[in-house]
Amino acid sequence: MGLDPDGDEPLTRHVGNRLGIPEYAMALAHVASLRSEDPYRKVGAAALDGDNRVIGTAYNGLAPGFDPPRDFWNDRAARQKFMLHAEINLCSLFRRGEARLVATTTMPCTSCMQTLCSYGIKEIYYHEIYHQSDAPEIAELYGIRLEQVERYPLSEFGYLASAK
Ligand SMILES: [Zn+2]
Repeated sequence: MGLDPDGDEPLTRHVGNRLGIPEYAMALAHVASLRSEDPYRKVGAAALDGDNRVIGTAYNGLAPGFDPPRDFWNDRAARQKFMLHAEINLCSLFRRGEARLVATTTMPCTSCMQTLCSYGIKEIYYHEIYHQSDAPEIAELYGIRLEQVERYPLSEFGYLASAK
């Protein structure tokens, strides 16, 4: 993560009064998470290309167009296998090699990390740590930058954060 070389305070990477790219992408990912239909865990993601242009944003949810029965959301554990993760929905928006950077509000799970690798993502930023994920080990092996972004424009407006 971005640490001040002279201290241990995480930096929000502003250049002058300009927002850093990771924080910019994270803010977009956070806004996307607000669209998630999952009442238990809202995750958003954003993808930027090599020129920092926004390719798209996505969030976790059910398959497009699926209208769940009324009691679908009652069982938190049962819903889990049906949820399409934000990163997977994000990768449906571009072809391999088109996106350089991805920001996700939660560290990618192992499966999503593998998918991001297959799409050739070079930099991945996350806000919330997900301890059950092998993402750090996968990133290290493949030489992908995986960093936490703690502060970004919307970070003071807490959002739903709970165990995956
Ligand atoms: Zn995932």
